[in-house]
Amino acid sequence: MLTIGLIGGMSWESSAEYYRIINQGVRARLGPLRSARSLMQSVDFGPIERAQHEGRWDLTTQILQDAARKLQAGGADCIVLCTNTMHKVIDDLQAAVTIPFLHIADPVGRAAARAGVKTIGLLGTSFTMEQDFMKDRLTRLHGLNVLVPPPIERQEVHRIIYDELCVGIVNDESRRIYQQTIDRLAQRGAEAIILGCTEITLLIKPQHSRVPLLDTTDLHARSAVDFALNGASAESANP
Ligand code: GLU
Repeated sequence: MLTIGLIGGMSWESSAEYYRIINQGVRARLGPLRSARSLMQSVDFGPIERAQHEGRWDLTTQILQDAARKLQAGGADCIVLCTNTMHKVIDDLQAAVTIPFLHIADPVGRAAARAGVKTIGLLGTSFTMEQDFMKDRLTRLHGLNVLVPPPIERQEVHRIIYDELCVGIVNDESRRIYQQTIDRLAQRGAEAIILGCTEITLLIKPQHSRVPLLDTTDLHARSAVDFALNGASAESANP
């Protein structure tokens, strides 16, 4: 079994989900007392969140490059960056190490292909919904047509992530807001919805949506299990 390196803490509410899903995945495949070999570099989210909102992506890159180097030095065979948003700087992070980052968009793209989905709605932080780093990879490498909510709904989706989900607050009114946004994306033609922020899984479960969900936390964590058990050929940073 290979060793999974995780960069967590963004927020730790979702990193805990990664840890659980990865260990459950190894147990399901290898037996009851088996668990994943893993290392986590868990960063302090406060300075990262501040730098994101100030547009200081160079600072976030420095912090995460340092975490990546420490994972490699500690013996990790791959790196899982447990946040969609910070995939904005993944190329600079990959440049700092020789072990592969498992890109979060790729297991999502493969799941969409398996489900026969072509047009997909994307929920996440404003950075993820508005900038190209996720949409471009989903479009270019996975042939998806990506829809995002209109500006006012994007603001609400973003606010709920940082003010509530990242601090462990899960509330019914926010779930209703997300459900309305999902419904409107479905009316515009989305055949499935990407939960493109690793905390949304805490709020929205399959039973809350009338279209299928592609949960980045679950798919990304499972792709790490495939990597650890099947080796580098099963998943790679660039399929
Ligand atoms: N975990 C979130 C994501 O998947 C948001 C927190 C962050 O900005 O990293 O995008």
